[in-house]
Amino acid sequence: MSADYYETLGVARDATPEQIKKAYRRLAMKYHPDVADTPDAAEKFKQIGEAYEVLHDPNKRSMYDRGGDPMGGGFGGAGGFGFPGGGGFDFTNLVDAMFGQQASRGPRSRVRRGQDALVRANLTLAEAAFGITKPVRVDTAIVCPRCNGNGSEGGGEPVTCGTCHGTGDVTQVQRSFLGEIRTSQPCPSCRGYGTIITNPCGECSGEGRVRSSRTINVKIPAGVASGNRVHLVSQGEVGPGGGPAGDLYVELNVATHETFRRNGDDLEVVVKVPMTAAALGTSVSLTTLEAERDDMDAAQGTVVVDIPAGTQSGTRIAIPGRGVPRLRRDGRGELGVTLLVQTPTKLDEEQRDLLRQLAGLRDENLSQVSVAKHGKGVFGWLKETFS
Ligand SMILES: [Zn+2]
Ligand SMILES: [Zn+2]
Repeated sequence: MSADYYETLGVARDATPEQIKKAYRRLAMKYHPDVADTPDAAEKFKQIGEAYEVLHDPNKRSMYDRGGDPMGGGFGGAGGFGFPGGGGFDFTNLVDAMFGQQASRGPRSRVRRGQDALVRANLTLAEAAFGITKPVRVDTAIVCPRCNGNGSEGGGEPVTCGTCHGTGDVTQVQRSFLGEIRTSQPCPSCRGYGTIITNPCGECSGEGRVRSSRTINVKIPAGVASGNRVHLVSQGEVGPGGGPAGDLYVELNVATHETFRRNGDDLEVVVKVPMTAAALGTSVSLTTLEAERDDMDAAQGTVVVDIPAGTQSGTRIAIPGRGVPRLRRDGRGELGVTLLVQTPTKLDEEQRDLLRQLAGLRDENLSQVSVAKHGKGVFGWLKETFS
């Protein structure tokens, strides 16, 4: 490829079609061989025209952006772009650009970039938290294996269209009170391609692509959440004529876990402890979400939680570094263990006696309660997190 077309027109790579058109008009008027008298004006004018031909056409522009050569022989450059050598140049092109009319574009290419594709993948909470390589079924267009994208049976080349003689356009002249009006539209015989596939491929009917289902392994990073998308370049739909594939997006959906809940990068779990354990204090071993990882040894799948004597129901104990790994960053959130103290039920006579004795020893009057004030309210927090 010769020059950078964006540089030639002095526009940014993300310039809008309007900006490209404006830049072209400005430069074309400046370097027009009829007005410019610098020796390189004609060459410059030609370069500007070439850059504009590519950048104002979304198909050619995307091909150019992807490193293809839309001016090359393979992609519809055959018709030429109206800049014959020598002193002549295509004035209609300039006029069209100035007055905003659609310039005659010549035959359009059969080869175009494919669409992006979207598939969904379901993950367990552990898979989302710790990452996984997941096989995902995708159904997209692929290059037709029978004709290799060419569209013709037996590898024959398309023939020049007899209606438009390869230009891809047909021009109609209508008389009106304003004079003659010439309108140009895509050739109906070849649909604007300038060529006709006389013997279409039996597999793809001349499309150059067929649908195919395949399984790809998608690497899902640790810390993803529902709605996140994994972007896979060039894994989407192959374009018409076997054109470059679009991208594939895998949208993730994370299933609800039976015991763990996610709150940002933190994991939350509720643990029931007997009243006696909460009163006397204890130390318990808790199975963590890591236990569901295949690549984890058993020791990493548990955590020891110290429950101090006198723990109240609703107390949350935070264990740093045992939550969800932060997506594309270092560190992990915390594991929040909320304790629910279980009041004993189904007491027998002996147990009731012991509790009455305990109440007596503690001077607890069973008919007297005190009303709690509104505070930070652990249960409020619980409700918020687990509703
Ligand atoms: Zn085919
Ligand atoms: Zn035609």
